[in-house]
Amino acid sequence: MKNQAKLYGPGLEAYPKKGIFFSNIIMILWIALGTFACWLVHPLIGWLYFAFSTKMIFIVLRKMVCTNCYYYARWCSTGWGKLSCAFFKKGKIENFKTSTGIKITPFTYGLLTLVPLILLIISLIQKYSTFKLAVLALLLSVSVYSGAISRKKACSNCKMKAMCPGSALK
Ligand code: SF4
Repeated sequence: MKNQAKLYGPGLEAYPKKGIFFSNIIMILWIALGTFACWLVHPLIGWLYFAFSTKMIFIVLRKMVCTNCYYYARWCSTGWGKLSCAFFKKGKIENFKTSTGIKITPFTYGLLTLVPLILLIISLIQKYSTFKLAVLALLLSVSVYSGAISRKKACSNCKMKAMCPGSALK
């Protein structure tokens, strides 16, 4: 098949479970810190951030992106191919690159990263506290680790890396 040929041959068929578990822990930590950072500014913003981030990350993007991925029903670096398969029907790999899900993914992650960071910085300027500064430092560390370091490692072994516009190796 035309698009199967674009798969990265040496890529992993299935990622190790230990790494998948760790990726999800980091993701949960990231959502928790983002929620807490927003909550420090106003509890309602915290709840809104929590609802939006969990819905987008674990439901909406899993349907819009993972259903068209080679790893649908397989163990990718996050295990979300399996999650997607448990709830949604398989899509088409040839639609992966051009899907709306792929287009809104960078915007979604950008929003989820920047909103708590900006709000927390504003809150720190308004009223400084060492605790807020510690939350900001933790949030920054987790964002950099998750968005750059661990993503790069996962993308380097991914079968989809040639056809994924969001690959960290491009
Ligand atoms: S590799 Fe990415 S797009 Fe593919 S199933 Fe996993 S999370 Fe979804």
